[in-house]
Amino acid sequence: MRVGLVLAPRVEGVRVSWELRGWSLLTLLGGLKDSVLVRPSELAAPCPVRRDVWLMRNGVRLAGGSVSRGVNYHREILSVFRAAVSEGWGGLKDVVEGGVIRSHAGAWALAVVTAWLSSGQVPPIAVEPYLPPVLGFTRSKPDLVVGSAPAEVAYSPAGLSGKYADAKRVELATYALILEALIKLPVNYGWLIMVGDKRVSTECVVVDDVLREEALRAREDVARVASSLTPPQPNPESCPATCPFRESCLGTAPATEGLGEVVRA
Ligand code: SF4
Repeated sequence: MRVGLVLAPRVEGVRVSWELRGWSLLTLLGGLKDSVLVRPSELAAPCPVRRDVWLMRNGVRLAGGSVSRGVNYHREILSVFRAAVSEGWGGLKDVVEGGVIRSHAGAWALAVVTAWLSSGQVPPIAVEPYLPPVLGFTRSKPDLVVGSAPAEVAYSPAGLSGKYADAKRVELATYALILEALIKLPVNYGWLIMVGDKRVSTECVVVDDVLREEALRAREDVARVASSLTPPQPNPESCPATCPFRESCLGTAPATEGLGEVVRA
């Protein structure tokens, strides 16, 4: 079992330039006047040209019933963590008796928090804490903050990989920057909780200079798209089969797999 999520990982030799620490970026990004604020989750939107960001910003909603499985796994995991953090063993009893755990995702979360509570500790986890606007980002809400490290739950039917996984790492780096700007302490890593239809795994993501620069570039890119009066053109060479905006964009319905890969409002 991956109790690594709830214990300090071994992250050694992380080199982060002073100017790429969140607190240093406050001066640079705090003065953004002509840029719209960006949601960290928009950095992980799957569209290669970020048209999904533009569509969401301009009122296009996902088709009913299209965002289901991934969202349900997500809720299940966070419900278990929330119960353990706020009410300890009593909370977990309620979760088990209340039928909250319906899948392997909930069972995984239960195993993690049970290991933690068994060691006599109160999990130092904040579940969906609201972070105030900073660094050109809106008020935001990472899934978890474990100690001072952000954690995000991401779903893909066969497990997270490829560009979506890369984008979620960038989103995690964004939360690390935001937390650094707020608490003025180094945040050198975050956790990716990867949920597939058969298993859950975790990755400790080191937030190095490369990822920080990527996050800053992505923020600028999303701000440019969000402030445009017209959607990004032309169409990308290929669109993810599961993109929930296919109907709006291409006139074809999305595949029914992988619908967790959406922009969260
Ligand atoms: S259908 Fe293609 S162009 Fe439209 S939002 Fe999805 S990925 Fe982007």
